[in-house]
Amino acid sequence: MNVDVLESAAHQEGKHAVHWFRKGLRLHDNPSLREGLKGATTFRCVFVLDPWFASSSNVGINKWRFLLQCLDDLDRSLKKLDSRLFVIRGQPADALPKLFREWGTTALTFEEDPEPFGRVRDHNITTLCKEMGITVDQKDSHTLYQLQNIIDRNGGKAPLTYHQFLAIIARMGPPPQPEPSVTTHSVHNAHTPLSDDHDEKYGVPTLQELGFDIEGLNPPVWQGGETEALTRLERHLERKAWVASFGRPKMTPQSLLPSQTGLSPYLRFGCLSTRLFYYQLTDLYKKIKKAFPPLSLHGQLLWREFFYCAATKNPNFDKMLGNPICVQIPWDKNAEALAKWANGQTGFPWIDAIMTQLRQEGWIHHLARHAVACFLTRGDLWISWEEGMKVFEELLLDADWSVNAGTWMWLSCSSFFQQFFHCYCPVKFGRKADPNGDYIRKYLPMLKNMPTQYIHEPWMAPDNVQKGAKCTVGLHYPLPMVNHITVSRLNIQRMKQARLNH
Ligand SMILES: Cc1cc2nc3c(=O)[nH]c(=O)nc-3n(C[C@H](O)[C@H](O)[C@H](O)COP(=O)(O)OP(=O)(O)OC[C@H]3O[C@@H](n4cnc5c(N)ncnc54)[C@H](O)[C@@H]3O)c2cc1C
Repeated sequence: MNVDVLESAAHQEGKHAVHWFRKGLRLHDNPSLREGLKGATTFRCVFVLDPWFASSSNVGINKWRFLLQCLDDLDRSLKKLDSRLFVIRGQPADALPKLFREWGTTALTFEEDPEPFGRVRDHNITTLCKEMGITVDQKDSHTLYQLQNIIDRNGGKAPLTYHQFLAIIARMGPPPQPEPSVTTHSVHNAHTPLSDDHDEKYGVPTLQELGFDIEGLNPPVWQGGETEALTRLERHLERKAWVASFGRPKMTPQSLLPSQTGLSPYLRFGCLSTRLFYYQLTDLYKKIKKAFPPLSLHGQLLWREFFYCAATKNPNFDKMLGNPICVQIPWDKNAEALAKWANGQTGFPWIDAIMTQLRQEGWIHHLARHAVACFLTRGDLWISWEEGMKVFEELLLDADWSVNAGTWMWLSCSSFFQQFFHCYCPVKFGRKADPNGDYIRKYLPMLKNMPTQYIHEPWMAPDNVQKGAKCTVGLHYPLPMVNHITVSRLNIQRMKQARLNH
């Protein structure tokens, strides 16, 4: 059918739905999309992308690539429903109302955004829609629970200790079950009017179109999208031994490398539903253990929920100043030291290998995050957690406004009460996590011939050993930028003082 005919039809009676994807890039457990499809005559799924933002923002190429892969995957899944994804170039408040008029939209749905910035954006769009007579329906599905419920049960304030948080969750019972996936059955009679120039107008852009230079770009270590997320979830659950033995997976040098079961980028973009993950884990546990699982089975997911809950009503959650839960610490400003840390040139191989992996691949292990966060802040460089958070925001595929800021505050002893007198040594911690130095050799090839004895502190290697390894410290690899023992002692005192003044 001709698109003009379809579009004029769209201005006729009936429900003409638009589902706006932001996070929640999936068809499974997508209650707002399902709501939009109910009784719809037409439906369109849109994603709004500002190409100017892409080239000017502080978001790394790996993260953009991951997002575009997620959109491609969504488009492929929608094709199977005789529909397509509409990637709209522009700003939501500007581009969406124009299209709503053109399309005769009568209903808008989207996943509720738990974060303050997103809520302001959504409030503005909702107001515009009301003026245009468009109904708006938003539903929670990015977190396990409705965060406001948790806050209400805590006297109107987000719980600030994990213990307190768990006590509330325990009283709330399990989260809602995930909803079934959108299929041709849920689409029912709704159709998507598509024009012949859909790809030109609304196709998923390439990295080049967004202004990125892709020459020399390595193949992705992480593949974005719902399809990959569900495959990974399956693999994750196949590790029954871990679930059966029930506990945190043991840290081995292999854990430092990206695994085929890693899920955090998928949860971040909403390619994977947290509730689906939660219930599949529960079901598996019940099957194996023949018992109802304790709360701690979901410990990691609950930590995510905890930070989301702490951040949801605090627009300054990602700042020290004006953030009521953050200890005010007189951090140093040192652009040169920050750049050395961010570019993996501190002279501590364990720290530099981690930062190199982060820059190249977009993901690092939880304990590796501990190591570099402590080094930058209270451990060695005494630089604000906000700076580290920004570097993670740029490079980390799973960087999440709430979780990233929350864990940085936590690691830097700025909130959520960490033991500040415990500090990671960049040599000893590295040796424990990577005893043979294989991880370091992988990411810092200039050290590949350094004997294991010296791989974590190459400056201690005698000259002839450095020569033999073809790596002269100070020439091929930097000298350590600080004396860890001296600075960490000093910083513990500074932290003690800062917290006394708080
Ligand atoms: C300084 C610092 C910054 C971090 N920034 C982020 C971030 O921006 N986004 C993010 O998702 N995680 C962040 N984390 C938490 C954690 O490191 C990652 O979630 C985890 O490494 C992801 O790997 P995984 O998917 O194999 O996790 P698993 O151990 O398999 O856990 C499953 C899921 O639970 C959640 N989760 C796990 N650990 C935590 C935690 N400590 N806090 C909150 N959620 C958790 C994640 O969504 C994760 O995918 C940060 C940690 C630190 C120390």
